[in-house]
Amino acid sequence: MDYDGKRYQMVEEQLKPRGISSPRVLAAFTQVPREIFVLPEKKAQAYEDFPLSIGLGQTISQPFMVALMTQLLDPQPGEKILEIGTGSGYQTAILSCLGAKVWTVERLKLLAERAQDNLSQAGYKVFVKVGDGSLGWKEESPFDKIAVTAAAPSIPPPLLDQLKEGGKLVIPRGGLVFQNLVVVRKEKEIVKEEDVCRCIFVPLVGKYGLKK
Ligand code: SAM
Repeated sequence: MDYDGKRYQMVEEQLKPRGISSPRVLAAFTQVPREIFVLPEKKAQAYEDFPLSIGLGQTISQPFMVALMTQLLDPQPGEKILEIGTGSGYQTAILSCLGAKVWTVERLKLLAERAQDNLSQAGYKVFVKVGDGSLGWKEESPFDKIAVTAAAPSIPPPLLDQLKEGGKLVIPRGGLVFQNLVVVRKEKEIVKEEDVCRCIFVPLVGKYGLKK
C-alpha cells in the first residue's frame, strides 16, 4: 500500500480545498502515519474522507475535522495542551507533531491502551490517562489550549477553570444528533465564544457530558 501517496492525496484533495491553509498543519498531516491509528482491517481505508470505527462504538474522526480543530487550536511548540477523548490517538499525534506537549484523557481503558501503543509506534511521547475527561486533569493544569473531541451539551466548567488566561478551547457543543464546533477564548476573566460550523461527534460521556 502506498501510504505516502495516500497521505499526500488526502492533503491535496480533502484538506486544502476546504480551507486548511496553515502550512504547519498541512505538514503535520503529511507526516503522521494515520494507518497506524486505525484497526488492522481498516488500514486500506485509513485516508478516506470519513470517520472510521475504532471499536467499542467509537470513531477516529474524519481527517478534515481533525485538521480543522487543529488549525483552530493553532498549537505552538512547547505549549501545554489537554485533549479530551484520546480515541485512536491520531489527533494527539498531530498535536505532538506540531511540537505541543499533550496530556490526553480517554474514558475507555482498552482504547487508551491501544492509543498509547499507537503513539509509541509512531514515535510520540504523550501523557495518557483513563478517566472522565469532562473533569479535565486538574493536577496538570493550567493548559494553554484544550481540544475536546466528543460532543458536550455545554462547556464543562472544570475545563474552563483549567484553561490559562489567554487560552483557547475547541469543543463540539450541542445535542446527540449534531453539534456546532465552538472556539472558546478566555481573556481577562471574560469567556468569548465563536461558532465555526456544524459537526457530528460521538457523545462525551461523564459528569458534564451528553450522557452520564
Ligand atoms: N480524537 C480521536 C482520534 O483522533 O481518534 C477521536 C475521538 S472519538 C471521536 C471520541 C472519544 O472520546 C472516544 O474515544 C470516547 O470514548 C471518548 N470519550 C467520551 N466521553 C469521554 C470522557 N468523558 N472522557 C474521556 N474520553 C471520553
